[in-house]
Amino acid sequence: MRCVKNLFVLYTGGTIGMLQTAEGLAPAGGFEARMREQLKGRDAISLAWRFAELQPLLDSANMTQTNWLAMRDAIVSAVEQGRHDGVLVLHGTDTLAYSAAALSFLLLGLDVPVVLTGSMQPMDAPGSDACGNLHGALATLQAGVPEGVWLYFNGELMHGARVTKLRSEAFDAFAVLPRERHGERAESLPAALDYRHPRQSVNLAVLPLFPGLRAEHLRALLGSGVQALLLECYGSGTGPSDNEELLAALREAHARGVVLAAISQCPQGHVAFDIYAAGSRLRDAGLVSGGGMTREAALGKLFSLLGSGLAPSEVERLFTLDLCGERVYG
Ligand code: ASP
Repeated sequence: MRCVKNLFVLYTGGTIGMLQTAEGLAPAGGFEARMREQLKGRDAISLAWRFAELQPLLDSANMTQTNWLAMRDAIVSAVEQGRHDGVLVLHGTDTLAYSAAALSFLLLGLDVPVVLTGSMQPMDAPGSDACGNLHGALATLQAGVPEGVWLYFNGELMHGARVTKLRSEAFDAFAVLPRERHGERAESLPAALDYRHPRQSVNLAVLPLFPGLRAEHLRALLGSGVQALLLECYGSGTGPSDNEELLAALREAHARGVVLAAISQCPQGHVAFDIYAAGSRLRDAGLVSGGGMTREAALGKLFSLLGSGLAPSEVERLFTLDLCGERVYG
């Protein structure tokens, strides 16, 4: 637990700092002055902060892996060169849970807390949740947050690799849903997963299974050069396992080194392949279980593992272990 005294604030865009334009709300710079102005009416925050804007400012709907890596670089240099002992990232809510998850895996080993926040309404809107979220996040960092990546929203501090955006309009937009919590913790982390290890972009795709999915749909995606495919299976990890052509497409992709990962599409589900033959056949075709991980966590984890240059078999092994509380928690 660290009481932060010298904070780095990284503003990436998002509704919190948006202004109205002819096309609708859009990211706007100069947020630090507006933020200081709004905080004047609240209880004093005594920690010191340095503010930086990550260019280009984004509606987080435009977030890419490159932007995740730029966030990671800015955070690491603030901690290592700027000697900051805590980080607050201001971010749009649409992909906030994805960035929180990606950063959870990109910053493994960093010994300062990183808290992300944003808001459902712009800071300047009457009755906005922006100032409450901002002030709450600052006060929480000042009072002490364990190291790791967190999301502060609507009065709650949530684990960065477990959180999901559930609501598109309400202020309590984010939650950690109860899911099956099992898996083995990684005994130690390979050097390739340390936050200092360089990462690169990866070709990843996510596909929800649905009645009517054809082998040719799957083949088109698997033939697009993806290094990993995250399949959102039904219930406890089942899928159209009577479709021999579809299973063959999975087997062939796996044999040429594509990582095939599975999560449940049930918001409170988890993968347990052995329960049904329709699950164990998918496992036999090469799928590895993401247990009860969220889509955001599984995607961020695959990105971090593959982006660090690990071989597919090592990616599969580490994917099934708990690295930062994404699988085993309580
Ligand atoms: N589209 C906005 C964004 O994600 C939504 C928000 O911030 O609430 O940047």
